[in-house]
Amino acid sequence: MKEFWSRRIKDAVPYTPGEQPKDRQFVKLNTNECPYPPSPKVMEAVSAAADGLRLYPDPECTELRAAIAKREGIRPEQVFCSNGSDEALAFAFQAFFDPDKEIVFPRVTYSFYPVYTSYFGLKCRQVPMNPDFSDPIDLLCGNNGGVVLANPNAPTGIAVGLDVVEKLLNANPEAVVIVDEAYVDFGAESAVPLIDRHPNLLVVQTGSKSRSLAGLRVGWAMGNQNLIDGLRCVRDSINSYTVDRLAQAGAKAAIEDENWFQATRKKVMTTREWVAEALKEKGFTVLPSQANFLFASHPDHGGKDLLDGLRARDVLVRWWGDPLIRDWLRISIGTDDEMNTLLAALDELI
Ligand SMILES: *Cc1c(COP(=O)(O)O)cnc(C)c1O
Repeated sequence: MKEFWSRRIKDAVPYTPGEQPKDRQFVKLNTNECPYPPSPKVMEAVSAAADGLRLYPDPECTELRAAIAKREGIRPEQVFCSNGSDEALAFAFQAFFDPDKEIVFPRVTYSFYPVYTSYFGLKCRQVPMNPDFSDPIDLLCGNNGGVVLANPNAPTGIAVGLDVVEKLLNANPEAVVIVDEAYVDFGAESAVPLIDRHPNLLVVQTGSKSRSLAGLRVGWAMGNQNLIDGLRCVRDSINSYTVDRLAQAGAKAAIEDENWFQATRKKVMTTREWVAEALKEKGFTVLPSQANFLFASHPDHGGKDLLDGLRARDVLVRWWGDPLIRDWLRISIGTDDEMNTLLAALDELI
């Protein structure tokens, strides 16, 4: 119907989030959440912060930014906090890109990028991945209106080194290069050390994956103070209080519990490695992942069939209909028990 809808909304093609089932108990390997809980210090901090709910939160997230800056070895002025990193990404698209020049990103990558592109009236060029599914870096170099690179990429899990990121930055000196590091803590190298040398670099990270805070909605962007000010300008033109009191307190506690973070990400990486081997033994092709998921395909079974077969066995994974990847499944890394359930279900299917 869309009666009364603005033209912008009538034309919008929104992102489809992964399913969050409420009806039955699934082994949930479809949205890359962390299978382990956040640091116990997060719960303490959130409870304490609840005392202040009568009051608006600090719009500048001063304490959380200080904690992130300290951990990353940068200045608080180089950090912007957001309601999930999706919000930082959406603000960045609005702050740094204009419609007269194409922004570029790989095809395939995080499916929110094309959504933002069209919603904000921008233009993009999606450059096909290399045949081995690695990022087409050379084709992302040049006189672009902007570059967006998920590193590691999603849903492939493949990461590039800092030399490659720097090549991209040098090749696009007049455009902002966004490096989306949602999965960087599972084995890739962060580009944060490059922000002092490259005024066009914006690094975006999230609490949702490696710090087990998907439900709290906290992300952050790091870059030159000029870029941070641009993001603040977008935020303060829409909603100054995007990160609530509980989220600021909980995320700060998570950032400060380095031991918990290290233990959690190592458990996920250890599980990833044995599951990748187990899948290969079953005949799957598995891409080399530096993320908390595996991207896998089987020569004798289509992706959709496996998706449906797993669902019938109470295991949720993610699949896309894009012809480039329709034979592939993205499987989040759960606990060892959950992964054993997945493997047993696959044994029935193949
Ligand atoms: C999960 C994810 C995000 C964002 O997650 P938030 O929960 O909004 O922080 C961003 N980029 C990629 C590639 C992701 O997979």
